[in-house]
Amino acid sequence: MDLESIRAVDPAVADLIARESGRQARTLRLIPSENYASAAVLAATGSCLTNKYSEGYAGKRYYQGQEHIDAIEALAIERAKALFGADHANVQPYSGSPANLAVYFALLKPGDRILSMSLPHGGHLTHGWKVTISGKYFEAHQYGVRASDQRIDMDQVAAMARELRPKLIICGASAYPRILDFAAFAAIAEEVGALLLADIAHIAGLVAGGAHPSPVPYADVVSTTTHKTLRGPRGGMILCRKKWAKKIDRAVFPGLQGGPHDHTTGALAVALAEAQQPAFADYARQVVDNAKALAERLSGHGFDLVSGGTDNHLLLIDLTNKNVPGKVAAVALERAGIVCNANSVPFDQRTPFDPSGIRIGTPSLTTRGMGVDEMKRLGDWMQQVVAAPDDEALQARIAGEVAELCEAFPAPGVG
Ligand SMILES: *Cc1c(COP(=O)(O)O)cnc(C)c1O
Repeated sequence: MDLESIRAVDPAVADLIARESGRQARTLRLIPSENYASAAVLAATGSCLTNKYSEGYAGKRYYQGQEHIDAIEALAIERAKALFGADHANVQPYSGSPANLAVYFALLKPGDRILSMSLPHGGHLTHGWKVTISGKYFEAHQYGVRASDQRIDMDQVAAMARELRPKLIICGASAYPRILDFAAFAAIAEEVGALLLADIAHIAGLVAGGAHPSPVPYADVVSTTTHKTLRGPRGGMILCRKKWAKKIDRAVFPGLQGGPHDHTTGALAVALAEAQQPAFADYARQVVDNAKALAERLSGHGFDLVSGGTDNHLLLIDLTNKNVPGKVAAVALERAGIVCNANSVPFDQRTPFDPSGIRIGTPSLTTRGMGVDEMKRLGDWMQQVVAAPDDEALQARIAGEVAELCEAFPAPGVG
């Protein structure tokens, strides 16, 4: 990273970036939506592509000077289509949230009914939660997980769909540790005449690597972020059937956005080339193996895992039986060098700002090359910290051990 050129202009920001880089290097990053982009992806993000304006699409731009930008965007699109087996790809959404808004703009009219997973049960804000534009401009109804096993209740989804006749059904989540049954969602959508959107923001890398089934054969439209398990730059992407290609493209530009972030498009092309390598499929598989190993260790320590375990990259832990609120646990763990987020659990008795659980995941640790042995150590550390959340001496000792482990598994782009 070219910190020196930043330091010459702005020592304050250079210093803060250096500190953040050190923090990312020396702590265990368990936030399941985060990852470490490769040095190549970071370099493309920091390149001169930042300087270009290119409203429109390849061959149909509003400004001159696009020969290389068009080629870069075409590469990103071709690689996205090949990697996911999609008819069409739009790589311009600024992030996951605007990608979803563009999908709604393409497929819906204000006031239309949507059926999606509720936020407190693991869904995402942009799927119609009341405080968001998606909740204000559309009539959102939400399904959840079953109380008995904390899995999505497809019978409930089907019953709600038959009764409500939504225009759009959304599947996809931010805090759901199990495989999504895209074929079952598609069958329900077809029965009630709804369109199906699969939002794979969290699991895109697992889908690309073959560690989670793909929604592409089943969904009309697939939206995703590019920076979570896919390990690319901060951005969004929409894949769709040929039938929706024009509508989606028009909804992204000029419907919702101005000029695409060409530095992000370039970095996405690089990340997609990385994801096409056999090593990325190994990565995706190891992410899941690590999550399962961590789940087993934590279960052995008496942690109450939502749905009993995991099929993907994340675990949701209900700490009610440990008598430690999620936020208290997250703060204690951070002092021990273990960074996660407090999270609501399904049917939470506490508030969203002071929830009962924590959410953890393995994408970042797996990028560092950690495996099952490291997950066992991590599970033991988490047990010790949560058992004594006020013990700052213990936290300091573990933070030292964590830093040592991190040194043995350097993360790309930081240090
Ligand atoms: C993260 C996420 C998004 C939003 O992505 P941003 O890039 O943060 O806007 C949308 N949907 C789901 C399911 C997500 O997990």
